[in-house]
Amino acid sequence: MRETDKELKACAARLKLTFIRDNLEDLLKTATDNKMTVREALAFLFGEEIRRRNANRCSIWMRGAHFPVIKELGDFDLTFQPSIDPGLFREMCSLEWIGNGENVVLVGPPGVGKTHLAIGLGVRAVRSGMTVRFFNAKDLIESLSKAYSEGAFENKLKEINKARLLIIDELGYTPLSPVQTQLLYHLVALRYEKKSLIVTSNRPAGQWELFMGDKAASNAILDRLLHHCTALAIKGESYRIHESRMRKLKRKAKEKKEEAAESTQAN
Ligand code: ADP
Ligand code: MG
Repeated sequence: MRETDKELKACAARLKLTFIRDNLEDLLKTATDNKMTVREALAFLFGEEIRRRNANRCSIWMRGAHFPVIKELGDFDLTFQPSIDPGLFREMCSLEWIGNGENVVLVGPPGVGKTHLAIGLGVRAVRSGMTVRFFNAKDLIESLSKAYSEGAFENKLKEINKARLLIIDELGYTPLSPVQTQLLYHLVALRYEKKSLIVTSNRPAGQWELFMGDKAASNAILDRLLHHCTALAIKGESYRIHESRMRKLKRKAKEKKEEAAESTQAN
């Protein structure tokens, strides 16, 4: 290795430009092969360092979001869900509402894509440089209740509230006690008009007080959540049932084709 390269590597290490330090030869070769000017080469080297840092940060934040699976907004078939207004959908996908501390509430029966959309929005938010935390509602409530009983509620609240976007999936599947409803209220109130929430539920907002143990807290949660909010009530068929029906149809068509081929051969 040339003396100047050694010096450059040492400088990159001192400046904590680790990608440049570890890939100096290759980066310089690309710069030389492409006959870059000094300015172009500097922009290229720093640009590559930034690109790598962003990619690293993105993968750390993606893990930190605790998505149960990765779902993409691009894979969501809007034509299958005519109850979703395409304009509202585009607005939601723009993520502008996160910048304004607004919320998204997705309600509807099982299988209509609520979790898919919530994760898809969360994944897009991470890629846009935002911190996200996904919770199943039951796990979140259990975690808040545990912290409360151990006298550590404030700290837990602070920890959960750090995420720029908080996703609470499947609210309504498990009934909440009066205390649990109040704990959830504290979280929603803390984020109100500051940091966004996505909440999914199998029950329309008008029925939330049926599974929330404290009516006043339930009203207060809804009031804050829905004040600045895109609320989508998704109707229609379960995509899971649609997919399994399509699989069966495909299998039957294949069987018929094979039978037809066999009978032609036999004749
Ligand atoms: P929900 O949370 O409403 O019960 P999910 O989001 O879990 O439903 O969706 C069930 C399955 O169907 C998932 O695998 C999801 O990716 C898929 N799915 C649902 N709706 C659509 C859609 N419109 N386009 C593509 N896939 C969909
Ligand atoms: Mg779901």
